[in-house]
Amino acid sequence: MHSMIHSFGCFLRLLILITIFLVWTVPSVHAEDPFRAVTLPRAARQGEACLIRVTGPASPHSISMEFEGVRYPMAFSEENGTYEGLLGIDMGTQPGLYDIKIVSTDGGRGGYRGVFSFRVEKVDFGIQKLSLPSSMVDLDAKTLERVNQETKRLAALFQAFRDERLWKGAFIRPVEGKVSGAFGLNRIINGQERSPHTGVDLEAGEGTPVLASNRGRVVLVDDLFFSGRSVVLDHGWGLYSMYFHLSETLVKEGDRIGKGTMLGRVGSTGRSTKPHLHWGIRMNGARIDPFSLLGATETADSGFGLKQQ
Ligand SMILES: [Zn+2]
Repeated sequence: MHSMIHSFGCFLRLLILITIFLVWTVPSVHAEDPFRAVTLPRAARQGEACLIRVTGPASPHSISMEFEGVRYPMAFSEENGTYEGLLGIDMGTQPGLYDIKIVSTDGGRGGYRGVFSFRVEKVDFGIQKLSLPSSMVDLDAKTLERVNQETKRLAALFQAFRDERLWKGAFIRPVEGKVSGAFGLNRIINGQERSPHTGVDLEAGEGTPVLASNRGRVVLVDDLFFSGRSVVLDHGWGLYSMYFHLSETLVKEGDRIGKGTMLGRVGSTGRSTKPHLHWGIRMNGARIDPFSLLGATETADSGFGLKQQ
């Protein structure tokens, strides 16, 4: 009897030791630098750029988030202990629940730091009916070939990802003036369904200066069939802005320009019926409402200054 009690006591002690061992060792894989999602939005709408903010300790490695297999870099604010990055939800993303993973580039360890769920909400973008000269809609074979080449060229531009972040702080509106064509409109031109409107149209008088939304490099200056005289800027981190239908362009490809630099003037070149600026944004290829980018970059803790890359 005595020896049974004794061995039961041994067993208990062993059990406690095993438990302590497990508690101390098993969770240590992720416990060393936990990332917590705090003030980030839990949802975003189709076509929205949103600021994702998570708390975490300073890391010697670069931290990014992953959404649908695409990586988005993050900036760190030492003051607040927050990592912030911009996520671009393409206007055609299926509404539903998604995962955002927080990952780091720390060599062979895999660098997985956390995951949280994120909802994409549906937007009713509305319909715009337009009447245009048929030469601008029903294209002959030669023009169609030109348009296809130009579309491919733009798509290839937006695929390029620059690790260096050239943009700094909040993005700005390139011209004042009311919105004459909202982002995302489903367009019916001369009675035919056409591709949706992937930017915003800002009404402004012919010749109004068009300003760069942020720092960047000029990657395209050309006269394109649909967009007329056009400028595209690469801001780094997969962000591009475009300025279409200009009457004239004042920069050249390869130029590095600052926020607010005059890129050209408002016009009505290409497929356009009156002077306006078509202003578009791509983020890792995603078609984004430019106004949502202004909002997302205005509210950042890190200020997205260039030191905190
Ligand atoms: Zn437009």
